[in-house]
Amino acid sequence: MLTNDQLSAWDRAHFMHPSTHLAQFARGEAANRVIAGGSGVFIEDRDGNKLLDGFAGLYCVNVGYGRPEIADAIAEQAKSLAYYHAYVGHGTEASITLSKMIVDRAPEGMSRVYYGLSGSDANETNIKLVWYYNNTLGQPEKKKIISRWRGYHGSGLMTGSLTGLHMFHKQFDLPLPYIKHTEAPYYFRRPEAGMSEAEFSTWCAEKLEELILAEGPETVAAFIGEPALGTGGLVPPPEGYWAAIQAVLDKYEILLIADEVVTGFGRLGSMFGSDHYGMRPDIITIAKGLTSAYAPLSGSIVSEKVYDVLMKGTDELGPFGHGWTYSAHPLGAAAGIANLNLIDELGLVANAKTVGGYLKEGLTAALGNHPNVGEVRGEGLLCAVEFVEDRIERRLFDPAKKVGPNIVAAMLKTGVVARAMPQGDIIGLAPPLCLTRNEADTIIDATRDAVEEVLGGG
Ligand code: PMP
Repeated sequence: MLTNDQLSAWDRAHFMHPSTHLAQFARGEAANRVIAGGSGVFIEDRDGNKLLDGFAGLYCVNVGYGRPEIADAIAEQAKSLAYYHAYVGHGTEASITLSKMIVDRAPEGMSRVYYGLSGSDANETNIKLVWYYNNTLGQPEKKKIISRWRGYHGSGLMTGSLTGLHMFHKQFDLPLPYIKHTEAPYYFRRPEAGMSEAEFSTWCAEKLEELILAEGPETVAAFIGEPALGTGGLVPPPEGYWAAIQAVLDKYEILLIADEVVTGFGRLGSMFGSDHYGMRPDIITIAKGLTSAYAPLSGSIVSEKVYDVLMKGTDELGPFGHGWTYSAHPLGAAAGIANLNLIDELGLVANAKTVGGYLKEGLTAALGNHPNVGEVRGEGLLCAVEFVEDRIERRLFDPAKKVGPNIVAAMLKTGVVARAMPQGDIIGLAPPLCLTRNEADTIIDATRDAVEEVLGGG
């Protein structure tokens, strides 16, 4: 077996990590951590440290680590048929069965699933679906996609453009043409302190309509949004938000893409965020929770309304010219089936609701009155604590103080993994959906102690 020193040297010399400071990493100034195992909500590193994973990997290991049911399903599939493609009408029992299981769980009106491997490629597919849809309808000028500031939709050129976070744009000359951004549904950062949630939602819808009118409604094809903002700060929408947005989209015949990469399959305490908030999407993006990340698999769930048009398109244009070698990969499909069965058997959607509520209450009780806590928010097992220098004015800390990363580092020392979200001092918590109340208590204690260490008791 390789020694830790050997692995670490190879890591720094040969492994180019995503979202990492490449220079600091190569020079040995930034940490490297080798994760060796996982069970339930815990991961273990090569030094034998056991950590409660309060972010479920990248909020994806929803059923928790070490589930033999999923591992066995993948192994059996690999032994009988590791791969066959899905082009020109080919399928496997696993990919067909999974499609039926997804549609059975999806919001009303959804009927077909197109598979990819990551949330990014699924959103790339969605853009192509929307463009193809409008080409078929004879409105080729209707191509622009509106996303929100603080939305996260992937890391490709078009999906990185959809993402509304500056750090993902400025290094790569994004956004590309066709992609426009509107206001984030971020009540904590409302433009006027006195606005109610409902007023703020109306304001967001008005801003969207202004943008549509400025661009020309005949050029706007779709609106994409996460039911609750994820990477942009873990923000549930304000009251009435989706109804107000939906009314504007309906008025200008603009499709709604619900990006449920994080929220799909139970995270908010409902099977889908779209149902949770009464959205009526035309396309839904799924990934992470679909297999709980036991194998890479993503998908675009397409409504019957959209599929009808796509069918007409192929009658005119010939076969749908879009596909990946690994679309509907049988190992991913086998993992997906076992994962969705486990979610049902273990009652994880209901658990996310009850234990998520408990976690939010506990964090609010522990930190709600701290002078630097601007907001404790959450829905299901998607929770965040946002820190500010001044709570009344909601004034941010100087980013150089690294308040968020320092709190996360202090939590790690006590054995709990949280995530410092990329914009603002926001601590993200999105543990596996099998979290127990005792484990929630461990997270609450670790957060409170870390805040005290970094900011004082208040
Ligand atoms: N959409 C959302 C809402 C996401 O949170 C993410 C990833 N965090 C993506 C898309 C992109 O997924 P991937 O990293 O698998 O490409």
